[in-house]
Amino acid sequence: MPADIVLIAMGFMGPEGGLVEQFGLEKDNRSNIAADYDKFATSKPGVFAAGDGRRGQSLIVWAIDEGRRCAREVDTFLMGKSYLP
Ligand SMILES: Cc1cc2nc3c(=O)[nH]c(=O)nc-3n(C[C@H](O)[C@H](O)[C@H](O)COP(=O)(O)OP(=O)(O)OC[C@H]3O[C@@H](n4cnc5c(N)ncnc54)[C@H](O)[C@@H]3O)c2cc1C
Repeated sequence: MPADIVLIAMGFMGPEGGLVEQFGLEKDNRSNIAADYDKFATSKPGVFAAGDGRRGQSLIVWAIDEGRRCAREVDTFLMGKSYLP
């Protein structure tokens, strides 16, 4: 096997560039997408962030929790109110 093959498995490194930069989203001091837990609104109106991209490396249960709460915030943003739990 060649000795010059390097595999870099960079899990838990925070959100990749790309969309974050294209949207011009602010990041927090840990390089995650800046958005408050209860609102999930980013620095760009109409753009929301939840889960590991907002919180940083975490657990499935937090991703589910944030996804549900974020859905309610998005619904309220679009409809003015939400009946989501
Ligand atoms: C190796 C490893 C082991 C883990 N083990 C556990 C465990 O045992 N128990 C536990 O509770 N948690 C574990 N976790 C953490 C858990 O997987 C995460 O907290 C959870 O998956 C976060 O969910 P998420 O929806 O926020 O992000 P993700 O699950 O990362 O989902 C983000 C999605 O966005 C997609 N995406 C990214 N960029 C773009 C783009 N530009 N356009 C379109 N799609 C894009 C990605 O492909 C991905 O499907 C582990 C994580 C890792 C890396």
